[in-house]
Amino acid sequence: MSIVQNSPVWRPFTQHALQPNAFKVSRARGSLLELEDGRQFIDAISSWWVITHGHCQPEIMQAISDQAQTLDQVIFAGFTHEPAEKLAHRLLEFTPEGLEYVFYSDSGSTSVEVAIKMALGFWRNRGKPRTKILALEHGYHGDTIGAMSVGARSSFNAPYEPLFFEVERIPFPTKGFEQNTLDALERACRSRPAAFIIEPLIVGAGGMLIYSPHTLAEMYRICASYGVLFIADEVMTGFGRTGTLFACEQANITPDIACYSKGITGGAIPLAVTMCRPEIYEAHYAPERARAFFHSSSFMANPLACAAALANLELWETSKARQLLSDICLVQKSQIDRFSNDKRFINIRSLGTIAALDLKLTNSSYLSTISLELMTFFNDLGVLLRPLGSTIYVLPPYCISTQELDVIYNAIDAAADKYSMID
Ligand SMILES: *Cc1c(COP(=O)(O)O)cnc(C)c1O
Repeated sequence: MSIVQNSPVWRPFTQHALQPNAFKVSRARGSLLELEDGRQFIDAISSWWVITHGHCQPEIMQAISDQAQTLDQVIFAGFTHEPAEKLAHRLLEFTPEGLEYVFYSDSGSTSVEVAIKMALGFWRNRGKPRTKILALEHGYHGDTIGAMSVGARSSFNAPYEPLFFEVERIPFPTKGFEQNTLDALERACRSRPAAFIIEPLIVGAGGMLIYSPHTLAEMYRICASYGVLFIADEVMTGFGRTGTLFACEQANITPDIACYSKGITGGAIPLAVTMCRPEIYEAHYAPERARAFFHSSSFMANPLACAAALANLELWETSKARQLLSDICLVQKSQIDRFSNDKRFINIRSLGTIAALDLKLTNSSYLSTISLELMTFFNDLGVLLRPLGSTIYVLPPYCISTQELDVIYNAIDAAADKYSMID
């Protein structure tokens, strides 16, 4: 059976009354998922944005397997291990210069919680408590209460809203209106907030909205001039997704705090890090225990995950991985550009390995159900795509072939024939 029914498993972002079934995957390789009955899906969204090089990347799988022979898991307070130490040093070499400390955790949401706690701890330990957080409009930073608080408010998090802390929103830098964003940020910085959190260059779950490296650099410059900590949530953008290893590289900035997760192990196994500049660490460094950074995760710096991340970094040293990345960026751009004069779509856009467009709908009553309808339509064609409302985006593993991309884009073309409004 390749469809699971009557399962006790409660799945994410799923209304079980509308989607009672799930596909049962038995293996994955490259950009393909295979069900128990042999049916295949092209994983056009990298299994929720985590897979970078491809599924079951051999070197990463080998590293996990080798590590599994010697050390599985160990408490990380008072104890450490070679994979964690080595990985921290290697991360310092790869990430923007100036990030000098590495705090481990196990998911993107947690890395964001850690970043927020670091920022608040920094100000408190300096004897100038600040607690207000600025956040970029439409942001998504995870699903824990703190991460939801700094993310956009929507029907997805309405039930929990009474528990959220207040955040000041800075308008998204829509093309042509960037100055509004910068002016609003500058005004907000005057009220002495603790930090500003952003997704660099592209707001992901908020609709794959892209803004320029110049605007990113300007936002950073304003925060730096007011001493407001700049938190870059690179959970999605990290490890090649935007065409460079990290999105912040394109703006030539080093954030005060950076969050990395999804692609850090090539997507094979959970791991996250929050990295920071030395000032943040030093504010917590003192003879009194009360100034320590009080956070831990049971599985932080899990050795198997660290070994996978180390293998991932090794891959990024090879010209093969770099070549795959630059190739996929070019191919994605040319694939999406074929829709640029297509009246069925608007906002045709791409950034690095990501391409997105918005479907013009025939019937506005589709709005609430369109993403589910499209997803089912694509599934029937053997393509895993999960549109965000009427925004269809392709965010594939970097190893994906041109033929596989053709299948994906032909499916998008067919979906538009069925659902779009044609003038
Ligand atoms: C996915 C995502 C997160 C949350 O990561 P999880 O591992 O799902 O908790 C946070 N920030 C951004 C930008 C993300 O895309």
